[in-house]
Amino acid sequence: MNAPVWNPAVEFMEREALERLQLANLRMTVAQALKTPFYQRRLAEVGLTGPEDLASLRDLHHLPYTTKDDLREAYPYGLLAVDREQAVRLHTSSGTTGMPTVIYHTRRDLDGWTELVARCIAATGATARDVFQNMTNYGLFTGGLGLHYGAERVGMLVIPASSGNTSRQIQLMKNFGVTVVHATPSYLLHLHSALAAEGVSLDQLRLQKAFIGAEPHSEQTRRKIEELFRIKAYNSYGLSEMNGPGVAFECLHQTGLHLWEDAYLLEIIDPRRLQPCAEEETGEIVLTTLQRQATPLLRYRTRDLSHLVSGHCPCGRSHRRLARIKGRSDDMLIINGVNLFPSQIEEVLMKTPEVSTNYLIQIEKRGAMDRLAVKTEIDARLFTGNPRALDDLRERISELLRSAILVKPVVELHEPGSLPVSEGKAKRVVDLRPAF
Ligand code: ADP
Ligand code: ZN
Repeated sequence: MNAPVWNPAVEFMEREALERLQLANLRMTVAQALKTPFYQRRLAEVGLTGPEDLASLRDLHHLPYTTKDDLREAYPYGLLAVDREQAVRLHTSSGTTGMPTVIYHTRRDLDGWTELVARCIAATGATARDVFQNMTNYGLFTGGLGLHYGAERVGMLVIPASSGNTSRQIQLMKNFGVTVVHATPSYLLHLHSALAAEGVSLDQLRLQKAFIGAEPHSEQTRRKIEELFRIKAYNSYGLSEMNGPGVAFECLHQTGLHLWEDAYLLEIIDPRRLQPCAEEETGEIVLTTLQRQATPLLRYRTRDLSHLVSGHCPCGRSHRRLARIKGRSDDMLIINGVNLFPSQIEEVLMKTPEVSTNYLIQIEKRGAMDRLAVKTEIDARLFTGNPRALDDLRERISELLRSAILVKPVVELHEPGSLPVSEGKAKRVVDLRPAF
């Protein structure tokens, strides 16, 4: 089952050697960061004068955190650590939670990013024999160009389809015998439901693998994608502040996402106490870039929640694994005092066989109380049957959700195709409560 490895010297590096490499690169990163007024100020505040103050990786905790707000304040050029002429590209975040942030790249940065993405792709067993269709947006969003250059470096035949135009996506897949695609999980589910209307059956496709990421999704959603398309789907985690895709990826064994520790220094912290979490405890992912020139970032607080997977992966890679991302710390919903994550709702829905692929969570204020509505599309055939059966299904889903999230929602059943779909990141939560 083992596939060729892209960079065996690094991917199987002994922990001790890996940590020595991390320390050397951390010192370089601090030296680089000190070229920006932002970090000059921040590092002076904690009494750090230069990279030589870092005697070991344990000294990392002396460094200040960097937040999304810091990046927003430094916008547009405040965190650029090289001359403008040396920067050859910029990308921004999607702006899911507010104003976008900007990251610059030198030629060497882009080459390093491409290598990381190639490593991820190869870890799933994909090779130059594959035909790859990239269904994510080719713009400022990093999923387009990021995957594109990595796939080219692996030698795949790349179709830069970009996002949207589902009918064209399906035709391209069919005509070119596409074997691997990259998309958000929500878009792939949507694409599956559009196959029939396009008159294309699974047997006319050659699809074997999908890389899915950019938005939180549950294990049940991954399984659903795998079953619907009869493929393997690999989880891809990244964020524009850390280049984009290529930060952590699942290998063939799908036992968690290997985070490339030669390029990123990983911490998982309790976001309230700002202290490291115990092994396997869920907390906020904090990352330090170790190879970047144009925008080095120290202890960047991603707000994404996950935990480390213990033990070794059968693939033998020494880079540690992150569990599936649970969501962002700011995704947490508080409904009548009960805390919950949208991913818990998704997990229940995707486990229910009658539920099809799209859903929406809506919260409103009714008097003093919050009202949670879960709108979900279900199999079209169920609408032609007995209305009692629909009532029973509604009640069953509502009960399943209550036992999972401790809040009983109002469940609405919708016909396939009736809820809004997104070509990029799905917007699953509509919170109509007044903001105070
Ligand atoms: P924005 O932060 O504005 O959405 P990005 O395009 O940089 O901009 O998106 C990165 C974010 O997307 C991550 O911080 C994370 O919240 C989410 N994300 C990316 N990949 C995954 C994944 N595989 N699982 C869950 N969430 C993901
Ligand atoms: Zn592995």
